Amino acid sequence: ARPSVAVRGLRVGYRTPDGPLWAVDDVSFDIHPGESLGLVGESGCGKSSLGRALMRLMPPGGVVRGRVEVAGEDMVGLSESRLRRKRGEDLGLVFQEPMTRLNPLLKISDHFIEMIRTHQPDVSKAEALERARVALSQMGIPPTRVESYPHEFSGGMRQRAMIALSIALEPKVIVADEPTTSLDVIVESQILDLFGRLRSEQQIGLLLVTHNLGLVAETCDRVAVMYAGKIVEIGPVEEIFNDPKHPYTRGLLASTISLETTELHSIEGYPPNLTDPPPGCRFAPRCPYVMDHCTDAVPRLTETNPGQHTACYLYPGAGAPVPEGVRAPE
Ligand code: SF4
Ligand code: MG
Repeated sequence: ARPSVAVRGLRVGYRTPDGPLWAVDDVSFDIHPGESLGLVGESGCGKSSLGRALMRLMPPGGVVRGRVEVAGEDMVGLSESRLRRKRGEDLGLVFQEPMTRLNPLLKISDHFIEMIRTHQPDVSKAEALERARVALSQMGIPPTRVESYPHEFSGGMRQRAMIALSIALEPKVIVADEPTTSLDVIVESQILDLFGRLRSEQQIGLLLVTHNLGLVAETCDRVAVMYAGKIVEIGPVEEIFNDPKHPYTRGLLASTISLETTELHSIEGYPPNLTDPPPGCRFAPRCPYVMDHCTDAVPRLTETNPGQHTACYLYPGAGAPVPEGVRAPE
């Protein structure tokens, strides 16, 4: 089957007071129908920028290069009007704080009617309202609550209402950026169940952007680890969690003692300044295994376990030869 999302050579650039930078720098991956991919890394690694770039939701002045194919159509070249249709119809977005997307002056029902009829003008108001009721009850919200205002909902209900809104047009893919961070564990597990159902029943693909590795272990089929704008390791969750190959992934997993923080306690130092990234492997300044040639060129992703790819010169295939006497971490 065709992938729901195919990203090739994606770069996302911004201007900052310190100069221009690529927050996402030459990233490629696929998401297949019904599959969930977790995107993890420290804050500032580019994971949220990547999530937003899939929707072409960029801050003013931001640029996107490369290809982002969603349901076979490249998002990068689309006109604003086509883009608006595509968001919603093919892509649903779930943010951490639903109040930023729900209009406090509009009832929940109005949000659904407006969104459905923007995309499907032939749908009557009554039919849109009926679909809203169905979508809400799928999310465990009584359909009668469709006439409520957002502030009359609890935080967890608002988040579920926003997910209902995001999937009302049956998108192929949902991008969820820290969707459960502000919620308690009961609502969190409800939402994860919902995502699971949408994936198995409707073959929706999920990109879950999070710093919470526990959430990824529970929810995702595959995981991509980002460091300083690049994917340094990607593969099946079991492989990566049981046998991480990249020194950064190893540090990240060792730090999950404190799941709820974005700080890495087990790796000395800080991610590089992306306005002036270090040459070659960007992890080199922090890497306990650094070799002379690590700073010569950027290592390529190479297969290190079935389906698992790692960008590190400790493994053959990453580009430069592994020097005699240097062994991969055991
Ligand atoms: Fe460390 Fe070199 Fe591998 Fe980078 S390429 S992670 S510096 S060993
Ligand atoms: Mg973020």
